[in-house]
Amino acid sequence: MKVRFWGVRGSLPVPGRHTNRYGGNTSCVEIKPKGDWPIIIDAGTGIRKLGKSMMENAFREGRGTAFILISHTHWDHIQGLPFFSPFYAAGNKIHVFARQRSDTHLQHVFASQTEDPYFPVPLAALRAEIDFHELVEGTRFDIGRATISCTRLNHPWIAMAYRVDVDGASVVYCSDTAPFTDVLLEHEFIATPPKVGGPLDPSIAAKLQSMRAALVAMCRGADLLIYDTQFTPDEYRQRPHWGHSTPDDAILVAREAGVKRLCLYHHAPARTDDQQDEILTSYRDQVRISGDPFEVLCAYEGLEVTLGDDA
Ligand SMILES: [Zn+2]
Ligand SMILES: [Zn+2]
Repeated sequence: MKVRFWGVRGSLPVPGRHTNRYGGNTSCVEIKPKGDWPIIIDAGTGIRKLGKSMMENAFREGRGTAFILISHTHWDHIQGLPFFSPFYAAGNKIHVFARQRSDTHLQHVFASQTEDPYFPVPLAALRAEIDFHELVEGTRFDIGRATISCTRLNHPWIAMAYRVDVDGASVVYCSDTAPFTDVLLEHEFIATPPKVGGPLDPSIAAKLQSMRAALVAMCRGADLLIYDTQFTPDEYRQRPHWGHSTPDDAILVAREAGVKRLCLYHHAPARTDDQQDEILTSYRDQVRISGDPFEVLCAYEGLEVTLGDDA
C-alpha cells in the first residue's frame, strides 16, 4: 500500500511562506491498497486537492468508490469535505465512517455542516451516493481486502484512532489525543488546565490506563504509526486539557508497541517550517541515542510512504 499525506496541520489551515515546506492544509491522509479503491482518513482542507486528483480517473465518470474514515468532527478534520470533488459526480459511491454518537445520527452531523448559513450546497444535493456508517470503538470490519480496527482516544468529545491492515502491512492513524496521564477528556468543556503530574482519582486513572493499553495493543507491530504531536513539552504543560500530545508521548507508545516507523503529525498552526525541522532533528537524535529501533518521520504535504507488498 501507499500512504500519502494531503494535510498535516492541526486546528486551522495556515498558508504562507513560513509553512510552505510542511504545508498549511489540515488533516487528510490517503491509503491506497494495491489496485484497490482509496481509504481516506480525515477530511481537513487537504482533502480538496486529493479529490481533484481523484477526478483524473474513474471518479470523473462517476464510476469510483471511496471510503472516508473520520477521526472526529472538529473543523480541522472535516472542513474540506464539502470541497471533495467526487461528491459532485453522479454514480460515485462514497462511504463515510465515524464514531457513533448517543445524541444524533452521523448523517445529521455532516448534513448540518453544509446547512444555511454555513454553506450554499446542502448534503442532499450532492450527486454521489453517500452512505454513513456509525462505528463503536473496538469494532473490526473489512473494506475490500483491508481490515480496519478502531479504538477511542483521549480528546474533548472523543476521537477515534484507526488501524488499516492490507497488502501485508499496517498503518495506524492516531489523532487527536492527549497523553493518558493528567486528565480524562470526554463530553465536557474544561476551561482551566488541570495540574500536570498531579494525583488522579483512581477510577479516572484506571480508565485512562485501559484506553492507552487498547491503543498500544492496536499499534502492535505497525509498519507506520501516525501520531498527533501538536505540542512541545512546554506547550503541553500549559494546555494539558486541549487534547494533544508531544513527540515524547508518541515515542513511548511507539516503543511499547514495537512499531517500525513513527510519523509526527497534526502540527501546531503557529509552527514554522524551520521550527518543525528542529523538532524532527532533536527527536531523531533522541531516538538514536536511546537505541530505539524505529525511524522517526515528520509528515509534510506530498509525503508518500510505501509499505508491504508495494515496497
Ligand atoms: Zn485536530
Ligand atoms: Zn480535535
